[in-house]
Amino acid sequence: MSDSLLKTVPANSLHYGGQWRKARGRSKILVRNPATQEVLAEVPAAEEEDVAAAAAAAREGFAVWASLDAAERARLMVVLAGIMRARMDDLAALESLVTGRAIREMRAQMGRIPEWLEYFAAIAQGLEGESNRVKGGFVTLTHYEPIGVAALLTSWNHPILILVKKMSAALAAGNTCLIKPSELAPVSALILADWCREAGFPPGVVNVVTGEGATGAAICRAPDVGMVDLTGGTATGRKVAAIAAERLIPAMLELGGKAPIVIWDDVPLEEATAGALFAAFVASGQTCVSGTRFLVSDKIYEAFVASLKKRAEAIRVGDPSQTETDMGPVISQASAARCHEHIATALAEGARLVTGGGKPVLAAPFDSGNFVEPTVFADVRPEMRLFQEEVFGPVVSVTPVKSEEEAVQFANNSPFGLGAGIWTRDVGRAHRLASAVRAGVIWINDHHKNDPRSIWGGFQDSGLGKENGWDALKSRMRKRSVIVRTAPNFDDWFAGGARYG
Ligand code: NDP
Repeated sequence: MSDSLLKTVPANSLHYGGQWRKARGRSKILVRNPATQEVLAEVPAAEEEDVAAAAAAAREGFAVWASLDAAERARLMVVLAGIMRARMDDLAALESLVTGRAIREMRAQMGRIPEWLEYFAAIAQGLEGESNRVKGGFVTLTHYEPIGVAALLTSWNHPILILVKKMSAALAAGNTCLIKPSELAPVSALILADWCREAGFPPGVVNVVTGEGATGAAICRAPDVGMVDLTGGTATGRKVAAIAAERLIPAMLELGGKAPIVIWDDVPLEEATAGALFAAFVASGQTCVSGTRFLVSDKIYEAFVASLKKRAEAIRVGDPSQTETDMGPVISQASAARCHEHIATALAEGARLVTGGGKPVLAAPFDSGNFVEPTVFADVRPEMRLFQEEVFGPVVSVTPVKSEEEAVQFANNSPFGLGAGIWTRDVGRAHRLASAVRAGVIWINDHHKNDPRSIWGGFQDSGLGKENGWDALKSRMRKRSVIVRTAPNFDDWFAGGARYG
């Protein structure tokens, strides 16, 4: 099934200006199945010349797209949402194959993605400016307008979700998109660009170039690009922000995280464990909001550790294409090696290995895959590396806390500030903790729930700006002020007028 989509991508091709284009450069990227190492596809690593051509196409597309009424843009976005819905099964199978994420998970996530297109298409039609009568006989008006070409640089962990979130806000705002997906999961972005053509988008509205970090950097530097929207690691965020600062263009940065999950003793143990398991191991722990630092009331600490061990050991790891599989591999050999390095360091620093820590034994061809056992360490102290650094894999820590104050102190002992979870039945405690824990997205008695209406974005090393909601739409636009004199006569300054500003 997923093969059928892969076959729609012509060899050595990028997609810009509304059609497939042969890449000018010669370098190639091999896309591998992380569960087996099988090569699934080969895509071009676009060079400066390709980037310049795609950016020019996006600039030309902008002249057309920005001039359409919001309702007409919305109509096309809704057509695209319909195309995605009709091909959902194939898209989920493709994404599972390329990312290694379990098919049950991919189908559940994929089913909701068209909602982002529909939501932003709808709210953009309701965007209203303001008008005020101000001192001295003036009326001021505000107008929103698109920025221009938006560069969208995306990560591999939710390739289509993250791309559609960004694209929906940018397109509804009237911008055109120049997209660079991750080298590890580039295929679905190319396919989506062709579906935009099929939906009737004017040429140059959605443009995709594949490549590595150097291609992403070339896009940020392209003079036609008017804003950058990145989802990626914090180190990449700093590099992208530096280019944006140099060019004085806006940068939205959705970066890394190390989500703390506070679990209090008034939550039923089974529910707390189920919530922790989901937060830690969905997507093999490869989400920016993965629950990674469990801060558990010392009254239930040992019972929680034992319960989490039991549930983690029941997770079925294996072939991502099977519906009974709970967890697939991590994305790359480098990612698996990083997980094992963190495991070795945690052991050396004295953390207690509760479960996992190794590579699961699987039959061929999955014995070659990048699998890591669901791994839990207890007695992890805030100064340990496992507590401080993003692992981006299924390796988590549990730490006892003796008071709310200690929970907050440990939760905020991190350079990140993206996701956090609070599990308690006490509404006062929930609000106290939610206002004290530093994070841009906080779940109470749940985790990872996401909706086009619910803003998303981090603080500090987790980035700048927001996805979702009106904040996302408005921040992908610029706003101007128009001041109209209504007083009949101009206050002639050089003839003794009184008012300056
Ligand atoms: P990377 O930072 O490696 O890459 C992100 C994107 O930026 C890729 O397309 C990448 O290309 C590109 N890129 C890399 N270097 C540069 C550069 N110098 N200039 C411009 N673009 C560049 O992240 P990953 O893909 O590995 O994704 C994982 C990270 O993303 C984690 O830290 C995770 O926490 C974060 N993330 C954040 C989310 C959020 O909402 N805040 C959501 C999901 C993930 P290439 O891959 O080809 O090198």
